[in-house]
Amino acid sequence: MSSNVTQAANVTQAAKADARANASVNPAGAHTTGSTSTAQYGDYEPIIGIEIHAQLSTKSKMFCAASTEFGAGDNENICEVDTAMPGALPVVNKRAVEFSIKMGLALGCEIRKRSVFSRKQYFYPDLPKGYQISQFDLPLCEHGNVEFFLDGVKKNVSITRAHMEEDAGKSTHHGEYSLINLNRAGTPLLEIVSGPDIRGPAESAEYARTVHKILRYLDVCDGNLEEGSFRCDCNVSVRKKGETTLRTRVEIKNINSFRFVEKAVEYEILRQIDCYETGEKIVQETRLYDPDKNRTFAMRSKEEAHDYRYFPDPDLLPVELEDAYIDQIRATLPELPLKRAERFQAAYGIPEYDSLVLTQEKELADFYEYVVKAAGPGKDAAANAKAASNWVMTDLMRELNESKKTVVTSPISADKIGKMIALIDSGTISGKIAKQVFAEMWTSGKDPETVVKEKGLVQITDTSAIERAIDDVIAASPNETTAYRAGKEKLVGFFVGQVMKATKGQASPDLVNQLLKKKLAGN
Ligand code: MN
Repeated sequence: MSSNVTQAANVTQAAKADARANASVNPAGAHTTGSTSTAQYGDYEPIIGIEIHAQLSTKSKMFCAASTEFGAGDNENICEVDTAMPGALPVVNKRAVEFSIKMGLALGCEIRKRSVFSRKQYFYPDLPKGYQISQFDLPLCEHGNVEFFLDGVKKNVSITRAHMEEDAGKSTHHGEYSLINLNRAGTPLLEIVSGPDIRGPAESAEYARTVHKILRYLDVCDGNLEEGSFRCDCNVSVRKKGETTLRTRVEIKNINSFRFVEKAVEYEILRQIDCYETGEKIVQETRLYDPDKNRTFAMRSKEEAHDYRYFPDPDLLPVELEDAYIDQIRATLPELPLKRAERFQAAYGIPEYDSLVLTQEKELADFYEYVVKAAGPGKDAAANAKAASNWVMTDLMRELNESKKTVVTSPISADKIGKMIALIDSGTISGKIAKQVFAEMWTSGKDPETVVKEKGLVQITDTSAIERAIDDVIAASPNETTAYRAGKEKLVGFFVGQVMKATKGQASPDLVNQLLKKKLAGN
């Protein structure tokens, strides 16, 4: 739907906060914000359905050749069609249809072979035609489903439909006057409508994250929350547990932050329960979420706004698809995130948590697999795969986040991290030294072998050199040695530390441990 009255500054702030949160990779089902338990709702049960408007990342608009590029000057990306000049006729953007089919297939939908564009009539100044071109009774995609994990539990949300439509323009209000920017008018959207299957705030946010992730995997939507490429409308109602019919629902419109989806839904559930408890009536209406006050407020009553008088747009032919065309698009589908996470667990033996974090973004998952490949099976393939996961999830992600980079712009390639893990696996460097190697690779971009050679970081595996260092440490620590020999075996940590210090951290920790115990025992 249109009405961009709601594109307020605070919504943009929300998107910014979300963009920051996203940069620090939030694993599916591993987040800790909000409550996932519905216990706090007592006898009540929340019922939530979400409509997502995803902007398809085509170069031109849904029905004309005007550019969709973000950030152009006001009313620069417009033409006769999206400004509704008399006689201007719409032409369907083939790429938008292709992207919509692709997403529909990824959501497990049936693709309707003959879908129809309809006019949805309403008056708004930022909608010059007086109607929005959408799909009504014959949408492109229907009957799909989305799976995701929430706190380790697999959830399944049905997709009722996904249809193509155009966005409206944007009005901004300045006291005595309003301005209209039609750059967004005609921007291609895929509206993805879930069934009323969602049962809580955290589940709502995770569902939205999952759809967002799939869109990004397919590369059919840039997913940019700040620029309005992904917006959620949440339909919320509550009912007493055991009831089988739905009560009046309220729609919270245009939320472009996952965190605010969670908070808005949470607020709305509690508000409705409170209304029922105090005997107040819930009216069907559209509400907006105010993140500063953390509350929803009424925007307009839906009762009079509901008659859109849909009818098939006589300016547009139905979209007729052949099986071969759909199959051709199906063949381009990448491995989807959840499937990929499951394969990571099976193929690399990494924990579920790791697999979900690493598959948050396609590029990150690709990066991880390149690291594993470059590390090679070595002596312990499973240890190398887990080491790859640890280095990518912690050391690399930390550096990337701090310098606002991504795996795509990372100064260290996957190949170099993999080779560094191979050096640990072969015993050339210790895990501790690897931290130094990693830091050096980050700043100089050199490969790990060169760093190790130039800095003389090769692990000391020469037993006699280590034995000499141990002898020196024992000679310099008579009190500790006596205490250890008298039974205070915990002191072994002290000795290991001293020997590692004496060898500048380059001694093989395994050998140090082994030889120390022998020497301390008096052998
Ligand atoms: Mn819509």
